[in-house]
Amino acid sequence: MNFDESYKFCELCPRRCGVNRTRGIPGRGPGFCGETDQIRVAYVGPHFGEEPPITGILGSGTVFFSGCSLKCAYCQNYQISHRGLGQTVSFHSLIGKIRQMIHAEKIHNLNFVTPDHFLPHVVRILQVLKKEYPLLPAVFNFSGYQSLETLKRLEGYADIYLPDFKYSDPSLAQRLSGCADYPEQGIDAISLMIRQKGFLNASLSEGALATRGVMVRHLILPGAIENSIKALTILFIEFGPDLPLSLMSQYQPVLHNKDSDLNRPLRRVEFDEVFDHAKQLGFLRMYVQLPEFSEGGLEKRPSFLPDFRNRQPFEI
Ligand code: SF4
Repeated sequence: MNFDESYKFCELCPRRCGVNRTRGIPGRGPGFCGETDQIRVAYVGPHFGEEPPITGILGSGTVFFSGCSLKCAYCQNYQISHRGLGQTVSFHSLIGKIRQMIHAEKIHNLNFVTPDHFLPHVVRILQVLKKEYPLLPAVFNFSGYQSLETLKRLEGYADIYLPDFKYSDPSLAQRLSGCADYPEQGIDAISLMIRQKGFLNASLSEGALATRGVMVRHLILPGAIENSIKALTILFIEFGPDLPLSLMSQYQPVLHNKDSDLNRPLRRVEFDEVFDHAKQLGFLRMYVQLPEFSEGGLEKRPSFLPDFRNRQPFEI
């Protein structure tokens, strides 16, 4: 089946809504992600907040799509995932914007951020751009909640996968992202990504850039330390000490949450507990965002939160 046909009975992600996305108003689509088959984009431009082997010196060339198939209750990009901020763009106009970014910014890679619900378009974009820029790695920046059937479609186009592994606890996954099957689905998806591309091929040395492979990210959530500890243990058991792991501590409360812990930043003691566990397990290739804490225990680092209402959403 032509991949574009997927929009007519959408099962692109594990939500498997089975809806026809070729109808409706862009941004008010019939499925969980809320998008039709009209691409909507919130930002195309360089981003310097990814891990060093992805960001390099010149930045990662990001395309942030509107809508999301996961919509976590604490999403740091809630403006685009929950509120649908972004503009409808034609396929040709988006390719033009990406070409312009490549020429103007000389970015190190092309980075599609939470693209699940527009993957048929992304594949078509890469069918064009890979001929023009064969050495520019294509990065798929994923939530970890991917369908295996869809991932198989990407094998010939993806160079780097950056999946999250957010949850080891099904009840937490259900409460915060509405998908109790996340732990199992996430491990199956990451396993397939690794079978396709191997581990990220950049060393930990300064200036090393990645061109292929998988790095797994885990965002530590306030008040959910057991979830993090078990998630890291599962990753270690499944993939071993050489798995490139990015441990992220930049959580900021953005949407008011029923879960009161999510209305505060991470505490130092929480970060230390998870980081110590990762070291004890023996991960050899960790990228760690070391937070700075004030005496009261709250993070004092400048905000990492993007504001997609701005032409340049990122402070860094
Ligand atoms: S991409 Fe959107 S419509 Fe399709 S299955 Fe996922 S959430 Fe549902």
